[in-house]
Amino acid sequence: MDIFCKIINGEIPSYKLYEDEIVLCFLDINPDTNGHCLIIPKKHYTDINDIDLDVLKHIFDVSKKIKKLLEDKLNIEGLTYIQNNGDVQEVKHFHLHLKPYYRNNEKKSVEEIYEILTK
Ligand code: 5GP
Repeated sequence: MDIFCKIINGEIPSYKLYEDEIVLCFLDINPDTNGHCLIIPKKHYTDINDIDLDVLKHIFDVSKKIKKLLEDKLNIEGLTYIQNNGDVQEVKHFHLHLKPYYRNNEKKSVEEIYEILTK
């Protein structure tokens, strides 16, 4: 079982930002920037080649809510969407990275960012 399936079934903890019956969004454990998070489908899909298009649309709908959260709480100045496949994909469970951009920003711990985003 891949690590993201374990996060979904609760075997591995995560800093959850959003959850519904189809997807889960949580902070990346090794963020490139403050608020770097991942949106994953709860059903296992490996990558862009096998994901259901309705699920993909839902992921992008949810990404708008997360974008607003990041804007409101972290004052992000840009947002990069990344989705890796094949040899450049470390975890073989579809995930969309949301990576905030800041002109100037001091890196904070994942715990601190989670506190800011959920308080
Ligand atoms: P990929 O290269 O597959 O697109 O990126 C996988 C991402 O998942 C990486 O940014 C990595 O830091 C993150 N990641 C890997 N294992 C875990 C984990 O157990 N928990 C969380 N929250 N993120 C993880």
